[in-house]
Amino acid sequence: MIFHHALECDANPVFRWDKNLETGIDIIDEQHQRLVALTNRLAHCLMVGSPADADHIYADLADYAGYHFATEEAIWEKYLAGDAWFSAHQREHAHFIPSLNRLSGRDENLDADQAIERTFRFLVRWLLCHILEDDKKLADAVLAIQSGLDPKAAKALAKSRANNLLTVFVDTLLNMHSQLASRTLALLRERAQRNDIQNKLEATNRELVNLAITDQLTGLFNRRHFDTVLQREINRARRQRNFLTLIYLDIDDFKKLNDTYGHAQGDLALQAVAKVITKSSRRSADFAFRVGGEEFAILLANTQPADAEIYAERLRLAVLAREIPNEHARAAPLVTLSLGVFTHLPSAGDTQDLFLGQADARLYAAKSQGRNRWISRLP
Ligand code: GH3
Ligand code: MG
Ligand code: MG
Repeated sequence: MIFHHALECDANPVFRWDKNLETGIDIIDEQHQRLVALTNRLAHCLMVGSPADADHIYADLADYAGYHFATEEAIWEKYLAGDAWFSAHQREHAHFIPSLNRLSGRDENLDADQAIERTFRFLVRWLLCHILEDDKKLADAVLAIQSGLDPKAAKALAKSRANNLLTVFVDTLLNMHSQLASRTLALLRERAQRNDIQNKLEATNRELVNLAITDQLTGLFNRRHFDTVLQREINRARRQRNFLTLIYLDIDDFKKLNDTYGHAQGDLALQAVAKVITKSSRRSADFAFRVGGEEFAILLANTQPADAEIYAERLRLAVLAREIPNEHARAAPLVTLSLGVFTHLPSAGDTQDLFLGQADARLYAAKSQGRNRWISRLP
């Protein structure tokens, strides 16, 4: 995990090495790049690491900075021992590790991520300023001495080069900024694509859920969903102390319709009845289901017993008004409905079976009393 994350942050640095940071002394440049890499590893802790990973990186940074300062100072000392530039540089180095420890420490106002951010900002600023302002100046002087100039002339040359420092800073920062800006754009594009895929997945998922609870012929909910919703609505009605109505309805002499006009006409009649039911259920609390071949169930939440009867009668009349032929049917030469209407205030212990049994008994009574009618009360 740590290894993978190290590779990932080397490929995608937040603080990108810039040519302006090169001092011209290979060993120093190598060590600076290693410090920059450790700084980037810290930034990546914000995304994928843990506080323990950050603590490891702080320790590595302190170790490596100590080692690097010793390397650098040995080079400066060889050519500039006793010089004010050298002692000022040593003082800068001496401040680094105490600052790192102070900033990376957590206190009550700062969580681990905030401490990482604060430390990261310090490191970027410190490395940029220290390398561009100081290391390059000393390296220039050392390189000039190596090429034969005396220390005084070498320092004068290094100083004159440092005159365009502001330009170098701006150039370096602009380079870093444009890298980060194009990375940000790439990330935004990636995120947009991810959102797109996510939306498609969610839509597919919704379709699958709908498919699983829908009756394909009529588009009403299916039997499976009826079992789920019935229990849920009983519980809800009990909690809210409301009436719940279950209407069980069955097309009269549907077998005769199939026998007379064929199965395809039977299917069309089922779809027509389903459409009438859908139109009649205007409230979102009304649910309609195809629970068997030519049997349907309707749940009405929070409806008075008299209103449930009015609803059943309206439905019966609406189907009759469609005038779908069923010439051998016993109640009328048309498609008609028989309905069992059970309205009840559920109490604890009332189960689905109570509702199913009571609604079915009323449907059976409607059939035996001549069909094309609703029954809400048993004798
Ligand atoms: P009753 O008035 O007593 O309800 O008589 P019925 O003929 O409607 O009742 P029965 O249960 O005897 O017959 C129901 C018929 O419904 C038998 C079956 O072939 C038919 N059926 C069941 N599912 C479908 C379907 O999906 N499409 C078609 N066309 N017919 C179906
Ligand atoms: Mg029937
Ligand atoms: Mg039947």
